[in-house]
Amino acid sequence: MRFKDLSQLKRPEPREIILGILPQNILMADYAKGRAFKISELVGVVFEESLEWYGFTLAHKDHPELIVDIGLPKNDLNLQDYTNLSSRRIAEFQESLPEDVIINGWIHSHGALNYKHFSNTDEKNHRTVLDFVAARNRKVLAKREITIQDLVLLEKDCFVEKDLEKGSVSLITDGPITQATIMETVYGSFCYSIVIGDDGWHEQEIHYKERGILSGHTTVSRKAAEIVLVDTGKTLTQIDINVLSDEVEEKIQLNLNPPPEMIERM
Ligand SMILES: [Zn+2]
Repeated sequence: MRFKDLSQLKRPEPREIILGILPQNILMADYAKGRAFKISELVGVVFEESLEWYGFTLAHKDHPELIVDIGLPKNDLNLQDYTNLSSRRIAEFQESLPEDVIINGWIHSHGALNYKHFSNTDEKNHRTVLDFVAARNRKVLAKREITIQDLVLLEKDCFVEKDLEKGSVSLITDGPITQATIMETVYGSFCYSIVIGDDGWHEQEIHYKERGILSGHTTVSRKAAEIVLVDTGKTLTQIDINVLSDEVEEKIQLNLNPPPEMIERM
């Protein structure tokens, strides 16, 4: 039976070994960016006016950082549902996608509005999308030392129940040890958020979530990011545009009585 108190185990700074990083810029296929602005354009053609719409940015499962396409869910105009993008709605859309395609963010349009930033309502949606994505798509970012106050080291078959009453954590090993460093995996996830306008402007952020698997220590952060365009060889053809036009007509609906809070909720 061995006990080690904190003073012997504590290091000045918890050790952290970086094993991976999350994207710092938004990688986006030319095709996907073209498609986003084409949706806005087609909305104008189909409905003869500018409407706001939202969609999801999509990636291949094996390359979650690159936006390869824009997915357009059924946009409804129910005020409550629209303002609060629910995880159920996102899940429904994810289920409609091929198995190797994942959602890695969301995109929406402020139409012809001169409001070229994310709004307070958008903030809630960032978080909803991030939580949804984080639950499905995480990568190892680091191994980080956990400082355990009052760690008790015990040897298998050499302690009694009473020994377990001591300390905050008991580490039971199959041999005598005098020192232990416990390192937890830190997982990280991200989601992209992009807002665009009819006249070609766009603004975007990356939202991050990191979580220590043992400590449960969770942090969320964000940064304004640039779009880095990637030529994937895929181009928006006239056939694509025709299909997209039908999709816009089917999934986006003209709101004949826009509520006065329309601008507020965007
Ligand atoms: Zn908005």
